[in-house]
Amino acid sequence: MWRHFLFDIEGVICDDMDNANLKEMAVKLLERLKREGKRVSLVSNVSRKSRRFVFETLKLKGLPIELEEVFTAGYVAAKYIRDLGFKRCFVISEGGLREDLLELGLEPVDDESAEVVVIGTDRGLTYQRLNYAMRLVIKGRKLVCAGASTIFKGSYLGDAGYFMGESSIAEAIKHATKKEVEYVGKPHPRIFMEALNGEEPSNAVMIGDRPIPDVMGAKSLGMSTVLVGGERALGIKPDLVVSGLRELYEYLYP
Ligand SMILES: [Mg+2]
Repeated sequence: MWRHFLFDIEGVICDDMDNANLKEMAVKLLERLKREGKRVSLVSNVSRKSRRFVFETLKLKGLPIELEEVFTAGYVAAKYIRDLGFKRCFVISEGGLREDLLELGLEPVDDESAEVVVIGTDRGLTYQRLNYAMRLVIKGRKLVCAGASTIFKGSYLGDAGYFMGESSIAEAIKHATKKEVEYVGKPHPRIFMEALNGEEPSNAVMIGDRPIPDVMGAKSLGMSTVLVGGERALGIKPDLVVSGLRELYEYLYP
């Protein structure tokens, strides 16, 4: 039996972080796991909302979770940038990533003093701002992407559906500049390592709804994987497929 349960947030714990309606059995499953002494972490590519916002929103809905158990791409990217010794960041993002950076003592700036360019998703992004980021990268600033989603589902200013994710924005800059992007988000290892915090990956299971970020990412580190829902990808085989958290609960506690 696994000792550490890592849950994706959007599509597994709740629909999406724009509304954050909890999925059936999310509360009951996390309560049971914790009661039995299991470690629980939430691991999400979200950076449009801050780690603190994600935590407070889910907690308010009744999910038994602590701030230290939440690992969002925005928070992990901020920690990574701080650990590299950078301070001033040019940020493309809706508010969340900016809050994560400020919380870790970094300084969002909109000028040449930026030492690094950080990309989250931004549904109000202008050409001018995207272009300014590109110029900074041409001048040698490191390009970091907080998250790795190409697209995501959400709702914004009355518009609901798929939106372009942060990696699509970062790749546009990469395409223009021929520079590399440093990804901090699933399926890349850093965010999983941060959540594992030294724990042996073979004791851990990642539960997610996307084959590539969740299943492929966690498998590459040696974790077990559970795929929730109907999405499939060629050549990616999770250890278990369930329709939802109820089925996972019944598998774990028959
Ligand atoms: Mg998801």
